[in-house]
Amino acid sequence: MSTIFSQIVEGEIPARVVYEDETTIAFLDANPLAPGHTLVIPKDEYERLNDVPDDVAEDLYATVHRLVPAVEESVDADASTVAFNNGEEAGQEVPHVHCHIVPRFESDGAGPIHAMFGGQEDIDDDRLDEIADEIESRA
Ligand code: 5GP
Repeated sequence: MSTIFSQIVEGEIPARVVYEDETTIAFLDANPLAPGHTLVIPKDEYERLNDVPDDVAEDLYATVHRLVPAVEESVDADASTVAFNNGEEAGQEVPHVHCHIVPRFESDGAGPIHAMFGGQEDIDDDRLDEIADEIESRA
């Protein structure tokens, strides 16, 4: 069973496609958080960023890089929030990697991504060192 986004790639369901190349495609979100809200996806189905092969990741970022100024300029936005909900617990509903480009306006009142969390976590220095080492050893 292919994802709804694969069905868009295949042209089986309609979408307002704004860019397409061999490996990636971008289209307007059907439930926009702001005018110009765009999704950028790899054409092949990968559930999470963690699953995307290196070469596809490069193509995906190149398309995001290309689309961010195009989207902002098209709707005269002041800025944009560019984000992946990476995994179900992070709010990902469609199990096919997608980057949200959400145009932002001075008066939109949505705040930074930090606003999703109640506040900063209190983590002591030893634990921070430990975490940094864990990440560094895997990067
Ligand atoms: P998620 O919550 O998985 O990060 O975001 C999924 C996004 O896909 C949502 O913003 C939702 O509005 C959008 N979406 C879901 N189904 C469709 C569809 O059939 N067409 C388009 N263009 N967007 C969709």
